[in-house]
Amino acid sequence: MVVLEKGMPAIQLGFAEVPEEPLTYSLDDYPNKIGGKPFWLNPSKYLSWTDVVCSVCNKVMVLLVQFYTPEDEPPEAYHRVIYLFCCRDGKCHKTDWKGCFKVYRSQLGEWNPYYNPGEGMQVDSVQAPQCTVCGLEAPKTCSKCKKVHYCCREHQLVDWTGGHKAICGTDKNTIPSTTHLFPEFELVSEDEPEAEPVPTSIPTLPTPDTTSEQHQEEYEETSVDVDKPFLKFQKRISRSPSQVIRYARVSYSTDPTPLYVASTLPPPIPPCPCCNQPRTFEFQVMPQMLNVLDINHYDEHALDWGTVIVYSCAGNCWGEEVFREEVVWRQMFSEEGMGDAARRALEGKA
Ligand SMILES: [Zn+2]
Ligand SMILES: [Zn+2]
Ligand SMILES: [Zn+2]
Ligand SMILES: [Zn+2]
Repeated sequence: MVVLEKGMPAIQLGFAEVPEEPLTYSLDDYPNKIGGKPFWLNPSKYLSWTDVVCSVCNKVMVLLVQFYTPEDEPPEAYHRVIYLFCCRDGKCHKTDWKGCFKVYRSQLGEWNPYYNPGEGMQVDSVQAPQCTVCGLEAPKTCSKCKKVHYCCREHQLVDWTGGHKAICGTDKNTIPSTTHLFPEFELVSEDEPEAEPVPTSIPTLPTPDTTSEQHQEEYEETSVDVDKPFLKFQKRISRSPSQVIRYARVSYSTDPTPLYVASTLPPPIPPCPCCNQPRTFEFQVMPQMLNVLDINHYDEHALDWGTVIVYSCAGNCWGEEVFREEVVWRQMFSEEGMGDAARRALEGKA
């Protein structure tokens, strides 16, 4: 993703691209990505499975997206990465979506113990072991070969039955089990295109008689709440229909509001518990992401959302720890709210 600069008015859109080669990372070239194992900013400490456990099924969540979003202030935000995790089980999201997402922020100053500026990535011997299945912190090691590491017993079993049993103690490497994670894509970004210019000559409407005026009012009363946000959403994404991410922090954008898919608005977002500054909109995951992740809409237990919105501390505050938790809010398409006009728009018959 293009590094944002102050004064950039446009919203940045993210698109999924199949990487030509397996993604790698260094601080000079830190990809934004969907799925796969997390790329950790701080090599000394990773998130543990207990940080990203689904509160419904108690299983470890998987990485949905991560962004490298460096900031000027404070100096500790010189390198900054946001990690968004979710449970893959749509049943959990139906039961209690709040327990199915976790988002964390990690930061490092320009001068830090792990990387030397200008010399690329200089990870020293502090690099912590990563779970071979999911990439989280791995305190467990295969007791037989002592070569592979795991975050928890569940992933040890996943790997054992998924292939490690056959090669444990041999020279062969474990085939990384990728089915456990979301497929990996690179996220590339573009400015959101401008809206199509509106025609300058507006046709003059015939003066309505009282009856049709009354009709009009009735129509507006019944349709305004239900269809407006959805229609606005449809119209806005039609500028660039394959967008999977919208990124716009308050300090950069002249339009730093999420694009809602329905009229339900988020509850007040709690301020940052560390510095008490407000948490503001940072990015949102669009429903098109579900297509990229190859999720079957016809399966009633499939993962589903209208949009997933992430709010983060406006001050990029920092302390001693390696991760600070931020806030997620999920919005669904409104079922009864999708009136006739919205349905026609969805089907392209506006
Ligand atoms: Zn779950
Ligand atoms: Zn794991
Ligand atoms: Zn082993
Ligand atoms: Zn803060």
